[in-house]
Amino acid sequence: MRLVLVGPPGAGKGTQAEFIAAHIAVPKISTGDIFRANVSQGTPLGVEAKRYMDAGQLVPDEVTINMVRDRLAEADATDGFLLDGFPRTVPQAVALDKLLADMGGMLDLVLELVVDDDEVIRRLSGRRTCRGCGKIWHVEFDATSREGICDRCGAELFQRDDDKAETIANRLVEYADKTAPLVDYYGAQGKLVGIDATGPVEDVTVRAIDGLRSYGG
Ligand code: ADP
Ligand code: AMP
Repeated sequence: MRLVLVGPPGAGKGTQAEFIAAHIAVPKISTGDIFRANVSQGTPLGVEAKRYMDAGQLVPDEVTINMVRDRLAEADATDGFLLDGFPRTVPQAVALDKLLADMGGMLDLVLELVVDDDEVIRRLSGRRTCRGCGKIWHVEFDATSREGICDRCGAELFQRDDDKAETIANRLVEYADKTAPLVDYYGAQGKLVGIDATGPVEDVTVRAIDGLRSYGG
């Protein structure tokens, strides 16, 4: 299956992507994770992306699309994938459709995680990520048993630079301006499935998997 997860920052895309990708046995491809890996390695791509990420803005389409083209050309993505955080603009969605058509395929489904702005702000303000295994935690909603230490691998947790209040506000504006139009884009293709992303993580996962099943996934 070729799937896309859309939703505002903090909707739970990264959290759900891990479970959904494991359930349908496809790789999870997160453009945010790829950018962050490039930032921490200090690559030219990372240096360029960091300027935008720190400002809560989207990285330019051309840079992002080229990066995704390279990633989708890797062997593990030939039979399917779950994209988390891409596409985030209509031009990116058009480029993805073209890329897949050139490869002789197409997207199967787009899951939209639906959650309101107040909840998103609560989720982003308390988000913590593991430096070792990348697992996503929350200080209140999904706390580790020892503060600042990952329950899964024992490594240290960190708070993302872009999860500060002023950056969060910019990211929500970027979402409303540039990403929300994807709902109409994929709705018109008949590929959009809206998922209520409120409530416990496990409940959202069940709704997402049910959403896939109802479309034959
Ligand atoms: P996104 O990838 O969409 O930006 P994340 O998956 O990183 O979002 O989730 C943002 C924060 O919200 C994380 O701290 C995560 O632990 C928390 N979170 C995710 N899903 C839920 C949920 N259903 N209820 C409460 N908190 C959640
Ligand atoms: P995320 O981890 O998905 O919240 O992404 C973190 C940041 O990476 C975003 O705020 C953007 O600056 C950048 N980014 C991730 N995916 C994209 C994308 N598809 N297009 C443009 N910028 C992106």
